[in-house]
Amino acid sequence: MSADTTSSLRERSRVIVKIGTSSLTDDNGVISHSMIASVCRQIAGLRELGHEVVLVSSGAVAAGVAALQLPARPSDVQTLQALAAVGQSRLMEVYNVEFHAVGLIAAQVLLVPNDFVDRQQYLHARATLERLLELGVVPVVNENDTIAADEIRFGDNDRIAALLSHLLRADVLVLLTDIDGLYTADPRRDPAATLVAEVAAGDPLLSVSAGMTGTSRGSGGMASKMAAARIASASGVRTVIARSTIDDVVRRAVDRHDLVGTTFLGSDRHYSARQLWLAHASEVLGSVVIDAGAERALVDGNGSLLPAGVVDVVGDFDETDTIEVVNQVGRVVARGAATMSSVQARASRGRRTSDLDESSPRVVVHRDDMVVFG
Ligand code: GLU
Repeated sequence: MSADTTSSLRERSRVIVKIGTSSLTDDNGVISHSMIASVCRQIAGLRELGHEVVLVSSGAVAAGVAALQLPARPSDVQTLQALAAVGQSRLMEVYNVEFHAVGLIAAQVLLVPNDFVDRQQYLHARATLERLLELGVVPVVNENDTIAADEIRFGDNDRIAALLSHLLRADVLVLLTDIDGLYTADPRRDPAATLVAEVAAGDPLLSVSAGMTGTSRGSGGMASKMAAARIASASGVRTVIARSTIDDVVRRAVDRHDLVGTTFLGSDRHYSARQLWLAHASEVLGSVVIDAGAERALVDGNGSLLPAGVVDVVGDFDETDTIEVVNQVGRVVARGAATMSSVQARASRGRRTSDLDESSPRVVVHRDDMVVFG
């Protein structure tokens, strides 16, 4: 399939490659130098073809566990954050050596989820990454686990990689993992399960929340891969989930004509960074249930959600927290940042604007801070 006539590799692409803990470590949880060497070689191959590559690598916690010779991965978040601080520099030591061996220079970039939301941080991160690519350097990104632990709890950098693909307007996001891709059912339980080769943008398969959890060494699993594919697809970025041990997997994933693993096609719709964050990445802290009139106004119109349309308020949330807007049969209609707390929402629900107290905010979720799912 790599013959020039059937390859898209000649088109210069911007590629985000993400490799998770389970693929970077051996059965004892120790960082595998040979896997890192293989990733570096594959990236060098892409660079020779003129592609720009950003690597997102986990493995800091695992390297910390090995350095301190702990018998097993601890489960409390604070220790994991501390271990990441121990392991991150060790992980980079291996990358520096292996990238040097293929004539490349690596740069460590540590990001936290808020960097994708705060406008200033977002612009700085983008400008620095762009400059690194111009300088011919390979950025090696990880979550700054020492001060943020989102990807330790759920994700193993899947979400960071997806948000990065949006930030850098990447052409393709390659998620390397220890499974072949998305199956029609859990292959460990159902022998008839088959690998899905391609998922169109907007395909209902994209909203499947795969129940498979990660291994004991990573924290991603299929659910967070699917969440990442949703973010990337909504940003117009093609995503490939594939097994890290397949020969030449990175080059094959970048080549549009060589189907490896599962490919999720990018959609034509483009969200702003803030909307993407609200829709797919931020933590949902509560919900409001709305009536049919309010649902119509959100889906067909362009309005904000007013207290009058709210019939119920679930959970405790503060102003600016992300909440879901749910209809009366439980379908999520929208997600957005609340303009009022759950206490204020309960007090004002069902009331028309003219009946609200002077001090009460006029809207529950503002249109500009909301993504409607249609
Ligand atoms: N960013 C973390 C790492 O590099 C996530 C993986 C984990 O939770 O073990 O180690």
